[in-house]
Amino acid sequence: MALLEIERLDKIYDNGAHAVRDVSLAAAAGERLVLLGPSGCGKSTLLRLIAGLETPTGGCVRLGGVDQAAAPPWLRNVSMVFQQPNLYPHLNVADNLAFGLRRSGVPAAEARRRAAEMLRRLHLGELADRLPRTLSRGQQQRVALGRAFMRPAAVHLLDEPLMNMDPHLRDALRELILEL
Ligand code: ADP
Ligand code: MG
Repeated sequence: MALLEIERLDKIYDNGAHAVRDVSLAAAAGERLVLLGPSGCGKSTLLRLIAGLETPTGGCVRLGGVDQAAAPPWLRNVSMVFQQPNLYPHLNVADNLAFGLRRSGVPAAEARRRAAEMLRRLHLGELADRLPRTLSRGQQQRVALGRAFMRPAAVHLLDEPLMNMDPHLRDALRELILEL
């Protein structure tokens, strides 16, 4: 059984835009699946449907064989990184990374240790105490990627997270994403 199964998924927005039309696909554990297509073809909508941020008009999303229709986003075993970094503005970088772990009951010292380790891998160790607004967009997006991969999610959804970054940083982040 595939880890992620999408069956005949459809999404028509209230304004009539038919963003996702009869999409079926499956992904196994450990598989990397890439959606390619022109702007407006429905890539973001498909990811948002998987994350539970949008409600399908038809069809279903299953994770580990379980239909997710009744599961709100915070109860789905997925993480998502968006085009725009969306960090908690009032938390410093280390606390942004540790937040999800703390919420899922990891003790503070352990969460701090794991956050520090991720910051090292992201080459952001020296920014641990900074607030997001004092970072460049590229740095913010690195933190957002790290935060997503700190979550023990079954599926990590990445919606063009490297958009608008300089090519040098993109290459480094692509490698990091593959490692993570
Ligand atoms: P992509 O990510 O591939 O660029 P999107 O999923 O963002 O595509 O958009 C697919 C289609 O749905 C587009 O026609 C877009 O205008 C429309 N759309 C996206 N989000 C909304 C929304 N919240 N309300 C109405 N229409 C939307
Ligand atoms: Mg998009």
